[in-house]
Amino acid sequence: VRARVMEVEESPGVEYTDIGGLTEQMNEVRETVEMPLESPEMFTDVGIDPPSGILLHGPPGTGKTMLAKAVANQTDATFIKMAGSELVHKFIGEGAKLVRDLFEVAREHEPAVIFIDEIDAIASKRTDSKTSGDAEVQRTMMQLLSEMDGFEERGEVRIIAATNRFDMLDRAILRPGRFDRLIEVPKPDAEGREKIFEIHTRGMNLADDVTFEALAEEISGASGAQIKAICTEAGMFAIREDRTEVRMTDFHEAWAKIDADEDADEDEVS
Ligand code: ATP
Repeated sequence: VRARVMEVEESPGVEYTDIGGLTEQMNEVRETVEMPLESPEMFTDVGIDPPSGILLHGPPGTGKTMLAKAVANQTDATFIKMAGSELVHKFIGEGAKLVRDLFEVAREHEPAVIFIDEIDAIASKRTDSKTSGDAEVQRTMMQLLSEMDGFEERGEVRIIAATNRFDMLDRAILRPGRFDRLIEVPKPDAEGREKIFEIHTRGMNLADDVTFEALAEEISGASGAQIKAICTEAGMFAIREDRTEVRMTDFHEAWAKIDADEDADEDEVS
């Protein structure tokens, strides 16, 4: 069971330079994860405990997972990822045990970064303990909190959680000693979008007419994940026309397509 729900990567291969924008967020993650792992004596000398857990919150596809992977990579820590939804929905009745396993695996692989995506799935304030499914969710969350609280010998294990639904979180997980470092990861601004284009086109064969400043303005509201999709789609337009160079028009058409697809998705939901 363990192997199927936990993603364990010895070196996740994401560098800070792969992340566009998010400078402040990156600094904060480094301060809370990197410093305690690399120079624990700084904290013992001053006589404070390093922050326990970090919570990254913001819209989908903005780089939360990338940040967690980059800091694990930088510190040569093992990256262990689990999704909150998998903890409770995939193996009914196993949630609390999986959480125990998660921390056990992390301690075996020290230094390690535990990344819990979609933490809202196990820590939502709407949970009603009277129904059995919700009781299971609560047990899973209690186990997580007790692992974090009883973390005297936390050693070289850091915990990062992420959510797209900050407003739904049970405040209990935000108490001091738990996920007490909140970092908002917003959608990129125009400058960030331009940077993200540059990152994702590094390996692409671009025509001379391609510039990203105006394009970045045009696609306001796009996330990093969408920008990556635009780059791939632009390449597909070139391939369809049997070209090896990607032109400005390909990027425009790619955005029109991706934007239209998103709108269609939204219509379906509502
Ligand atoms: P979710 O909330 O949906 O899990 P997330 O915030 O964790 O999303 P990531 O998985 O980090 O998002 O990003 C998805 C992909 O989008 C990345 O692999 C990367 O290719 C691209 N991406 C997102 N944000 C950025 C960014 N700031 N810079 C560069 N690429 C980005």
